[in-house]
Amino acid sequence: MAGAEYTPWAAQGIPFQLEYDPDALEQVRRIVVEAYYSMPRGGMEAGGVLLGRFEKGRVEVMNSVPLECEHALGPGFVLSPKDHSALEALVAGSGRQPDGPELKAVGWYHSHTRSGLFLSEEDLRIHARYFPEPWQVALVVRPEHGSPPRAGFFFREKSGKMRGESTALEFQLLNRSATTPPAVWVGAAEIAPSAAVRAQGPSMHETAGGRLPPIPVVVPAAPRWLLFLTLVLGVVAFIAASGFAFRDTEVRVLREDIKRERLRARDLEKKLDLERKSKEVPNTRPGSP
Ligand SMILES: [Zn+2]
Repeated sequence: MAGAEYTPWAAQGIPFQLEYDPDALEQVRRIVVEAYYSMPRGGMEAGGVLLGRFEKGRVEVMNSVPLECEHALGPGFVLSPKDHSALEALVAGSGRQPDGPELKAVGWYHSHTRSGLFLSEEDLRIHARYFPEPWQVALVVRPEHGSPPRAGFFFREKSGKMRGESTALEFQLLNRSATTPPAVWVGAAEIAPSAAVRAQGPSMHETAGGRLPPIPVVVPAAPRWLLFLTLVLGVVAFIAASGFAFRDTEVRVLREDIKRERLRARDLEKKLDLERKSKEVPNTRPGSP
């Protein structure tokens, strides 16, 4: 897809090149994290099909389609018979995209909210049944509380063996919607189904990546009288404000003065009282019998 910058997943032992469009994994991240927080205690697990192309020993993950798992068997990504038929239909119909490039199922993804990055026996069975090509991959995502989800791909080795115990290279799914400039496109990407969004892929990517020049914003010049009026009003407001502030401090100083004068008056009264008493004492003594 023109304009898309792919990130390589260069793990040791992988017999082909694997690259992904960060926007495609951003979709996966959003779906997995939303499901994780949709339910307390461990959350829901989610999954879907990875779309893209395989050419000349190179797998490109370009898009994804979520599988509407009915969770008949609990919050885990455990497929009911109905889910199995839905997955089969997704894989079969993956090449038909209205107005978009011809994409095929290059693998699948699902989240593990209660365990780590590995493929269970059941996961390996799903992979063998629906993704039998030697270059088809599985992506497991582990959402985390307060940090970006951890992720890892799983692939078939040259011998055809698939190592499910652990991923050959772990990486993080960073929140890309937080780093791309907020625009109409981001909102549209959240509303529209993923296939439709990717059909508009190139233009969306270019806008999100800041490739298009910014639209200049024309601000009409304000008339001169308006500027003058603003200036005059500003000066008046400043004078009024400083006047209030001045009067305020004046009142405070006067109040302190009054308080001080009152204290001094009380002191004087006390002194006079004492003097009067001391004068009264000698007067009463001589008069006593
Ligand atoms: Zn699993």
